[in-house]
Amino acid sequence: AIYNLGSINLDHLYRVDHFVRPGETLASTDFQTLLGGKGANQSIALGRAGARVHHIGAISRNDDWVLNEMRASGVDTDRVAQLDGASGHAIIQLDRQAENAIILYPGANHRLTREQIESSLADAGPDDWLLMQHETNGLADAIELARQKGLSIAFNPAPMVAEAARPLIRDVDLLIVNEVEAMDLTGTRDIKAAESALTRDYPQLRILLTLGREGVVYIGPEGREQQLAFQVDAVDTTAAGDTFIGYCLAALAEGLPPLEAMASGGAAAALCVTRLGAAQSIPRRDEVDAFLQS
Ligand code: ADP
Repeated sequence: AIYNLGSINLDHLYRVDHFVRPGETLASTDFQTLLGGKGANQSIALGRAGARVHHIGAISRNDDWVLNEMRASGVDTDRVAQLDGASGHAIIQLDRQAENAIILYPGANHRLTREQIESSLADAGPDDWLLMQHETNGLADAIELARQKGLSIAFNPAPMVAEAARPLIRDVDLLIVNEVEAMDLTGTRDIKAAESALTRDYPQLRILLTLGREGVVYIGPEGREQQLAFQVDAVDTTAAGDTFIGYCLAALAEGLPPLEAMASGGAAAALCVTRLGAAQSIPRRDEVDAFLQS
C-alpha cells in the first residue's frame, strides 16, 4: 500500500470584478468551495489509478464531506485526524482576467503529531511506500519512522523550500520535482545544470524530473530515460503534476518498470490538462487505459 502524508485544503473561490482594496467591502458575484491541496490531489490520483492508498493528514471536525469525497475516489481516510480548529484552506479571489489573489491558511495541515504518524504506519512494512509533499509538518518524523520499518520513500518537495528539503532528500528513495523545483533545489538556472547537480549530489537517488509539455525524465540505477508528453489541447494545467505523481507511483508500487510507469503518469496528466479544475480533473483508470490504447 501507499501511505500518503499530505495536505488537505478547501479552496474557497470567489469571483470578483476586481481584487478587494484596503478598507473596501466587496460583493462577490459567484462562490464555490473545492477540495484541493497537493496531498489530497495525489491521494485521489492514486485511488483513481487503483492503488491501495491510506491518506495521513488532518482536517477540522466540521468537514466530513471532504473525507467522503476522498473515499469516493478509493482513498482510505481512517488515518486523517479530525481536530478542533480550521482545516487548511485558501481564500481565492478570481478577477475577470482570471488573475488570482490568494490567502492560504495551513490550519490542521500543520498540526500533525509524531504519535499520529507512528500509529498511522503501524501496519506498514517493506512492501509499502511512504509519499510526502511539503504542505504538512511531520516530514522528518515520517521519514525516520518509515526508514525503521523499511518502507520505500517518495518525496515531492512542493512547494519548494530548498533549505528544508535538502537534508530530507538524503533519506528518500525517489525524488519527484518539476523544472522550477529542480533549479531552486540545486541553486541552478537551467534544467540541464539542475539535472547534473542532482545526479552528482545524490548518486543513490532515483529522480523523476517533470518537464511540463516536454514530458518527464527518469534517472536511476536502470539509467536515464525520457518519456515525451502526449500531445493534447491543454486548457488548465492545475493538478497535472499531482496526477502524474499519483498514476506513476501507483504503477511503480505495482512493480512496473519506470518507462511504463511514466507512460501511465503521462497519459493521466495529459487527460488532466484537457479539463478545468484540480481534483475533479484527475481522470479515472478506465479513461487512462482507453487513452493509452487510442
Ligand atoms: P507541475 O504541474 O508540477 O508544474 P509539470 O508541468 O512538469 O508539473 O507537469 C507534470 C506532467 O504533466 C508532465 O511531466 C507531463 O507528463 C504532463 N503535462 C503537463 N503539461 C502538459 C501538456 N501541456 N500536455 C501534455 N502533458 C502535459
